[in-house]
Amino acid sequence: MSPRVSEIDQEHVWHPYASVPAAETPHVVREASGTRLRLETSDGVRHDAVDAMSSWWSAIHGYRHPVLDEAARNQLDRFSHVMFGGLTHEPAARLAESLVAVTPDPLQRVFFADSGSVSVEVALKMCLQYWRSRGYPEKRRILTWRGGYHGDTFHAMTVCDPEGGMHALWDGTLPRQVFADAPPADHGSVPDPGYVSHLTELIREHADELAAVIVEPVVQGAGGMRFHHPEYLRALRAATERHGLLLVFDEIATGFGRTGEMFAAEHAGVAPDVMCVGKALTGGYISLAATLCTAEVADGIASGDVPVLAHGPTFMGNPLACAVAEASLGLLESGEWRTSVSRIEDGLRAGLEPARGIPGVRDVRTLGAIGVVQLDRNVDMRAATMAALEEGVWLRPFGELIYAMPPYVCDSADVARITDGMVAAARASLGER
Ligand code: PMP
Repeated sequence: MSPRVSEIDQEHVWHPYASVPAAETPHVVREASGTRLRLETSDGVRHDAVDAMSSWWSAIHGYRHPVLDEAARNQLDRFSHVMFGGLTHEPAARLAESLVAVTPDPLQRVFFADSGSVSVEVALKMCLQYWRSRGYPEKRRILTWRGGYHGDTFHAMTVCDPEGGMHALWDGTLPRQVFADAPPADHGSVPDPGYVSHLTELIREHADELAAVIVEPVVQGAGGMRFHHPEYLRALRAATERHGLLLVFDEIATGFGRTGEMFAAEHAGVAPDVMCVGKALTGGYISLAATLCTAEVADGIASGDVPVLAHGPTFMGNPLACAVAEASLGLLESGEWRTSVSRIEDGLRAGLEPARGIPGVRDVRTLGAIGVVQLDRNVDMRAATMAALEEGVWLRPFGELIYAMPPYVCDSADVARITDGMVAAARASLGER
């Protein structure tokens, strides 16, 4: 059956950053449970692979978790969707309350979006509309740092790394934002005071035209898996406060424990005015994201001549997704994830040590349940992924990076398998097998 599935897929289905018909033949996932993907390659070979990617930061509790399955089933027995206009429901209300409780204190209002990119669109709209409502329509540019990634929709793209291919493609059609240099990748060492001055100075210079600053706290993900010092977030908070700008943290990838804190901003002990969450919000089960903001931002928007936030997707607050997200937050409540993430961090660090000695490996780094091996050249995708699959691991490298962000339910044997798979992928990619 599977070869047929992959043929149909290859001919008709658009994959991320791909053409159709596709150049790459995707493997077919037949089942997923716990930490495992049961997949079949196009030549019919079956693999039982640990998913080192957690469906990109999302499946933190693994696949088919009994608690999440039950939450979905229970809600399915009631109703799967009703649109919000004039109606509400318990899953959305309860989840909003739980999100407000678990996120930094000043965040009090919740807009449910249907994907991470849309939650970023909403965050930027909130910021621009806030200033417009308060009589400063000229404050509509956004400052961010280079090397970032915030999604693929039009306004989200404007704050992605300007040197990334996507930006060049849309040159002339996107509003031009203000870019600071990428933060130095100096997590765990001393912060660079020169960089703090650069940030502070740029914010001062552009303050009159800026609505907000948006960044990914502590980890720049899709822009290079770079970990920076939390001090830069404190500097941003101080500078945005000084100049009365809004600060937006995109915690779509980093949220819900991935970096060892519930939210990455907690490494810095600062709270934003607006925050985006997604991905692991539903434990990776169903598309759902949210933009949270302070009462001041919401009240500011409400005080304008257009006193409503101009956004309203059909599937906002989908009850199935909200019920599963509430169950996922429930699983995190005991705090056991902290022990798991810290155990995974230790396992990744120890297991990736041998990669340091491989000629052609430029850097090896870990933070929370994230492990990265960076080569000095682009990864040979096919060689790397097949070498990892032979070790029983699903990896999906990009650029120079072989990286993993496994489900928190991985045991030590799973983590050892992942690091063996990453080392094998690095060797295969560098032609060392
Ligand atoms: N922001 C960050 C930091 C992300 O990592 C991503 C997804 N990789 C997004 C935004 C966009 O989220 P989505 O893919 O759900 O639209």
